[in-house]
Amino acid sequence: MLKIPLSLSQILRMPRYTYYCEKCDEYFDISHGMTETLDLKCECDAPLVKVLSVPLSLDTKKISVKVGDTVKSSIEEFKKDLQRQRRDASGKEI
Ligand SMILES: [Zn+2]
Repeated sequence: MLKIPLSLSQILRMPRYTYYCEKCDEYFDISHGMTETLDLKCECDAPLVKVLSVPLSLDTKKISVKVGDTVKSSIEEFKKDLQRQRRDASGKEI
């Protein structure tokens, strides 16, 4: 799960967009500046597609980001964690 801290004033100033991952069938709420174009990727490495509207009942994940790089670096960290876990599970392998 991505958790990116951001000040409340920054969040309030930014419009929110909804992105969708086809592979995971998951929606993400992402706040970013109107002029910013984000090349976002899901944890599964599939590209996130911007959607115009989602049903109100939909349980979207709340993610707030400043720029795309923030998300990318978080996902890199996530991948590193995964690799570390795999290495731990498979023992010593060279
Ligand atoms: Zn995904």
